[in-house]
Amino acid sequence: MDTSKKNNPVYSNTDTSQVTMSEEEWKKILPSDIYYIARMKGTERPWTSKYENFYDTGTYYCAACGNPLFKSNTKFDSGCGWPSFYEPISKGSIIYTPDHTHGMTRTETQCGRCKAHLGHVFDDGPPPTGLRYCINGVVLDFKKAQEAEKNYNEKNRQ
Ligand SMILES: [Zn+2]
Repeated sequence: MDTSKKNNPVYSNTDTSQVTMSEEEWKKILPSDIYYIARMKGTERPWTSKYENFYDTGTYYCAACGNPLFKSNTKFDSGCGWPSFYEPISKGSIIYTPDHTHGMTRTETQCGRCKAHLGHVFDDGPPPTGLRYCINGVVLDFKKAQEAEKNYNEKNRQ
């Protein structure tokens, strides 16, 4: 676990229970860049994410709470400047909310466990879903396949 997570009592890649915390608590726990996107619904500048052109095999987790969100094999190069996926890892991993800010009608995507703002979903993605999940890389944690498998095995041995 890296230093940004050591003060985060809710961070877990396996706990599926809902997280409800006050905004003050989140502010104390999260690094400021993650707090700005996850809780203030900010947007990172396009082309700035280390995951924008990144295709290692593994799993993407919510950087605020550790909830699994996407698998690397559903990531694609959308050219939009943000990490893009065509399908979430499971049905409940993401919450969808209508967003009418900035004079647009969009669908906001939030983490299904802690309601962190992730980005938006659009219907101009590739098959098989036709969806494009346009996600702020700041709120994603990536774990390589072997590492995720190791954590899973350790958890199941307990
Ligand atoms: Zn989360």
